[in-house]
Amino acid sequence: MLTEARPLDLVADFPAIPQGWAYLDTAATSQKPKPVLDAITRAYGETYATVHRGVYQRSADMTLAYEAAREACARFVGGRTDEIVFVRGATEAINLVASSWGNAHLKAGDRILLSQLEHHSNIVPWQLLRARTGVEIDVCPLTVDGRIDLDAAEAMLTPAHKLVALAHVSNVLGSVLDAPRAVALAHAVGAKILLDGCQAVPRMAVDVVALGCDFYVFSGHKLYGPTGIGCLWSRAEILDAMPPYQGGGSMIDRVSFVRTTWAPPPTRFEAGTPHIVGALGLHAAIDYVEGIGLDAIHAHETALVRRTRDALGALNSVTLFGPEDSAGIVSFAVEGVHPHDVGTILDESRVAIRAGHHCAQPLMEMLGVPATARASFGVYNGPTDVDALVNGIERVRRIFG
Ligand code: PMP
Repeated sequence: MLTEARPLDLVADFPAIPQGWAYLDTAATSQKPKPVLDAITRAYGETYATVHRGVYQRSADMTLAYEAAREACARFVGGRTDEIVFVRGATEAINLVASSWGNAHLKAGDRILLSQLEHHSNIVPWQLLRARTGVEIDVCPLTVDGRIDLDAAEAMLTPAHKLVALAHVSNVLGSVLDAPRAVALAHAVGAKILLDGCQAVPRMAVDVVALGCDFYVFSGHKLYGPTGIGCLWSRAEILDAMPPYQGGGSMIDRVSFVRTTWAPPPTRFEAGTPHIVGALGLHAAIDYVEGIGLDAIHAHETALVRRTRDALGALNSVTLFGPEDSAGIVSFAVEGVHPHDVGTILDESRVAIRAGHHCAQPLMEMLGVPATARASFGVYNGPTDVDALVNGIERVRRIFG
């Protein structure tokens, strides 16, 4: 059900959004609020030191701050602190699972179920695993309105399936997965399930324990945090049974030329000096988002999506993709105009959208288009941004006759 608008007026928190600029590309990356910028500046400018190794106070303090960021991530998605692995982002998290868990647990003849709408980062790592091990990949189709068709998934899943990996929210269509049902279907055949939460965590409350999933991944930079930091969450017993992804400093217990032993998770998966300041920035971003409240954010973005779909849907040359209740993201096409031209003309009106395949080429193929135009919302957007988009689209139609 669509929720009533709870207007947020937070654009003043975002110094990189000048007045009159409609930034509608949050699904690619979000702008950063002042508390995140301050946390980064403070960390590099006042409190900087390495973590986990220093014998001096500054390093001990930084270690506490780094581990406090891990606690914040665990609180944010609902897992245990030692179940949070810091990674560069969702892409690295999925590659980590495919390499470490996949190599250790999957073999030729095992099957993986993906869906037609996955981001390339939830396709290609599994194809690389297929090349290494001979696993088979199946693709779950979508419903007519662009959701992952879980009836089809139910019919496709067999005991040979060892993993189901699906987007919690589509980065192109905004469609929200019925995650509890997906988890139940995967577990019914004994498969593990990975949810790609990149587009979910900035716009809806997530609790991995309540969901009962096995792996959950997200990127900090789509959650109002810095680039280069993200999270892999998995249950302690799963992480425990996974070999290292990369070797190096920090991830070891003891090293000798004869035999090296590993640190327990999550350290086992964090080789090398980590993105210390990134973790602190992510902590500030989580605090910021929690301060607003995910329910308020969801209601806010839902209202903006409804305003956008109503206005664009009323224009007879515009095709809307995805379901009516998409979360924060609206993909569309203007008849006879390439999405790149739509994006360029909108830019002249200071409206920033994304045009392209959105790293989801198999979805574009299914939709029968080379690309879509996509508007995606964040906490800093308001009705005037939607109106600027709609006015811009009317200008596109005038220009192209
Ligand atoms: N999955 C989804 C659904 C995404 O939207 C993105 C980013 N567009 C990714 C994965 C990859 O995230 P990153 O590039 O931050 O690793």
